[in-house]
Amino acid sequence: MTLNNGVEMPILGFGVYQVPQDQTQRAVEEALAAGYRLIDTASGYGNETAVGAAIRASAIPREELFITTKLWVQDAGEENTHRAFEASLSKLGLDTLDLYLIHQPFGDYYSEWRAMQDLYGQGRIRAIGVSNFHPDRLIDLITNNEVVPAVNQVETHPFHQRAADQEFMREHGVQIESWGPFAEGRNNLFTHPVLSEIGAAHGRSVAQVVLRWLIQRGVVVIPKSVTPERIRENLDVFGFELDAGQMERIAALDEGASQFFDHRDPAMAARLGAARVE
Ligand code: NDP
Repeated sequence: MTLNNGVEMPILGFGVYQVPQDQTQRAVEEALAAGYRLIDTASGYGNETAVGAAIRASAIPREELFITTKLWVQDAGEENTHRAFEASLSKLGLDTLDLYLIHQPFGDYYSEWRAMQDLYGQGRIRAIGVSNFHPDRLIDLITNNEVVPAVNQVETHPFHQRAADQEFMREHGVQIESWGPFAEGRNNLFTHPVLSEIGAAHGRSVAQVVLRWLIQRGVVVIPKSVTPERIRENLDVFGFELDAGQMERIAALDEGASQFFDHRDPAMAARLGAARVE
């Protein structure tokens, strides 16, 4: 996908949320060997060091990789944001970052954005964006700052499809990126009858159908797996196409609500806004 500043981002990558520190290097090495070039981590995941070790071990030229990490709420303030950015880069063993995201729409994220704009202007980051921003917060950030976020990473899967949010982002030049493309298996996603039937028609798994459906919608996907066969399976989604009828059948599965929690829930805003990570 070409972002609003001309930078190209792979449409499919590898996410490492909830991958334990001691399994991350192996999983990311598997992913890089399979052909993934986009890796999505976060300071809050506690595994940036292991991601960095896998990058170094792969010996893949830096310019072929697209590395994303995220700033946690506790690092608000321009100085703290600069410090957190340098800490993440040092853990990853990189000089520059491809995409830096504000992880949550909580806290003093305007000061974070100003610092990120600086780092972007200095060429330390190729693209800056946000995560978990609903349209109201997104438009407020866009209206009151110079740089329009290149990406908004939000929960997006067959049960929470975000079509209207995607259209809003498109109108403002923001690329939608799905987190939790499988809803982490909730709502029996992997055995869902409609998704299974569509998979059987193509000789593909439910996971592949879901990723293919998101990609055909122009949504960037970053599935997570620690299982080598699944890591490879999730990348193998470019050799088939869902037809209009199949796309519509999946569109009909939308429940229009999160499978996890709503970022507009005051209790969650208070809890996540106060959460501290090492
Ligand atoms: P996913 O929807 O990617 O689901 C991961 C689960 O699906 C794991 O249990 C995995 O099992 C299983 N799985 C993966 N592939 C297959 C397959 N082919 N067949 C069957 N099961 C499969 O959940 P995530 O929450 O991890 O989302 C993906 C990424 O999005 C994260 O890793 C992270 O990078 C990002 N994210 C960002 C958030 C944010 O706030 N910005 C929040 C949450 C995620 P196993 O590993 O055992 O193989």
